[in-house]
Amino acid sequence: MSISHKPNLRPSAQSLGHEAVQLLHSLAQFGSVPEGGITRLVYTPAWREAQAWLEREMTSRGLLTFWDDVGNLYGRSEPASPGGRRILTGSHVDTVRQGGCFDGAAGIVASLIAVSWLRATYGPPNLPLDVVSFAEEEGVRFPVAFWGSSNALAAAEGREPTPLPRVLDEDGIDIERAIRDANLPPASRRSRQPVGAYVELHVEQGSKLEEAGVDIGVVTAIVGQRRYWVEVVGRAGHAGTMSMQARVDAMACACSLLNELLERAAAIPDLTLTAGQWHVEPNAVNVIPGRVTFSLDVRHSSERQLDLFACEIERVCSNITAERRASVRLTSWMNQAPVPMNPSIIALISSAGNDAGWSSMPVLSGAGHDAQTFAGSVPSGMIFVPSRGGVSHAPDEFTSSDALGRGIEVLIRVLYALAYETYLP
Ligand SMILES: [Zn+2]
Repeated sequence: MSISHKPNLRPSAQSLGHEAVQLLHSLAQFGSVPEGGITRLVYTPAWREAQAWLEREMTSRGLLTFWDDVGNLYGRSEPASPGGRRILTGSHVDTVRQGGCFDGAAGIVASLIAVSWLRATYGPPNLPLDVVSFAEEEGVRFPVAFWGSSNALAAAEGREPTPLPRVLDEDGIDIERAIRDANLPPASRRSRQPVGAYVELHVEQGSKLEEAGVDIGVVTAIVGQRRYWVEVVGRAGHAGTMSMQARVDAMACACSLLNELLERAAAIPDLTLTAGQWHVEPNAVNVIPGRVTFSLDVRHSSERQLDLFACEIERVCSNITAERRASVRLTSWMNQAPVPMNPSIIALISSAGNDAGWSSMPVLSGAGHDAQTFAGSVPSGMIFVPSRGGVSHAPDEFTSSDALGRGIEVLIRVLYALAYETYLP
């Protein structure tokens, strides 16, 4: 597939990249912490200042700004004649604690540059073209990940905002008061117009593009995630008096079954398995662990593969605990299906990459993104740009100016096809 009408879509990727770096640098001042990195949690003063700064940037570039009920900020390139489904592009403005200045922010800045470049070069689009800065994605201050994009989608589909969950932050402030304190502007009816397509640029947060020496990642799917607690119960006892043969050591058993699972996981292409959280009882230096509980996070793009691995986990847990005379309880507490991106948008991004002369390859996203909120009901796609060393959610997260510029050039071409040529899947 190729973009039918090819105007002089030749912005300089280098200058787009320079502009992106300048904007990212300015945005990074909001929430920058002395320990290093950026902590910009939803509805905090740093978050509010960042949104206000973005609103000023949007206005200065001739975009019409508006807000919705939960503090998502939009900057619209208005079409010559009103109406039509809007094309939405952007990412999230919140960060993790001591995060970097690219996760989320790169997508907002890229969208802002792309939409204003198109407007300055070709005038008004044929469909409303909205840059969005989503209020929240990370689920750090409140356990409400994708709060921004899910409410943006609800508004676009004419639904009421999600009822405010009864959740507190670590200072005991509930989300309702946090919203009140953020003093948000009133919601605009523009946020309730239907969305025709959603495109998000994001840093890869992995190292596949860098390893392959490829410029652009065309995201084919966001992987599904399943999470479990594995509770292994053995028998606590004295570290010095109980012989190795007589013990039922819950930690030894947990380690052995985890090792077995890690080996099996490594043999399945693209599957990831992580045991990141551990609780040991009684957790004392001179006592044999009596009970060990740990988390399992399993990700893959195929639901069937996740089902198969779920059976594998059950089998390994019961076999190994039986061998070691321990007992086990497995609890599944999260099951998020894989989210494929829209095939036409995937093709559009690939073709835009080729036309621009940048190398591209299909990639899976191992992390969740706002695009997965939209993908179920709106044609959606994602453009990845390389992350140095695959580092993210850390102060040394980095993507070069050139890499950003190439991604923005591709985004420009995709948005041109969608909003100017009204190519809607
Ligand atoms: Zn992100």
